[in-house]
Amino acid sequence: MKRKVGDYSNYVQHPRYGRGPRFTDVCPKGVLPGYRLSTYQSDTTIGGTAVEADLERQSFSPVPVLYYFDLKRECVDCGRPFIFFAEEQKYWYETLGFALDSKCVRCIDCRNRQHGLERQRRRYEELYHCKDRTIDEDIEMAECAVSLVEHGIFHTRQTEHIRMLLNRIAGDNSVGRRYNHIRNRVLRIEGANDGGQTDERQPE
Ligand SMILES: [Zn+2]
Repeated sequence: MKRKVGDYSNYVQHPRYGRGPRFTDVCPKGVLPGYRLSTYQSDTTIGGTAVEADLERQSFSPVPVLYYFDLKRECVDCGRPFIFFAEEQKYWYETLGFALDSKCVRCIDCRNRQHGLERQRRRYEELYHCKDRTIDEDIEMAECAVSLVEHGIFHTRQTEHIRMLLNRIAGDNSVGRRYNHIRNRVLRIEGANDGGQTDERQPE
């Protein structure tokens, strides 16, 4: 069977599973009534990546899932594309006991980062004192800052400084996606302040 490999060069690298799809020789058979073929039936499913589920171990669900497939996702924090790997799903739903409908919305980097706010604060300080920051370091600094504001560690007036960083970065195509994503997060924070609304992040 011919497989479309596609371009995954801009996908987030997972330290364990890699960057691109992991093709398997598993050929899903027909679906019995009362079962689902896969967790998500959408165009983000990558064909040819099926991993068979162990129904004995799978977290309880009214409708068990027979196979896991690699899925294309977009990270809610950094906006970069990543793959939620079939093997990762198996691990989530069979080893960690996560509910079958719990979705992976963050790339591995951001999941790690989510639990590393203290590290981000230190990294921010470090970059702050760095005189000749590269574009990548500027954007990293802006990402640290916006995340620290979102988590209430930095005051919301820090968004002025983030905007300054964004102005330095603006126009550099290599960081377009990350740039836009930071900009949207800044706008959301500022919007929440102006409108006097609570700064509630929309879960996806
Ligand atoms: Zn991310």
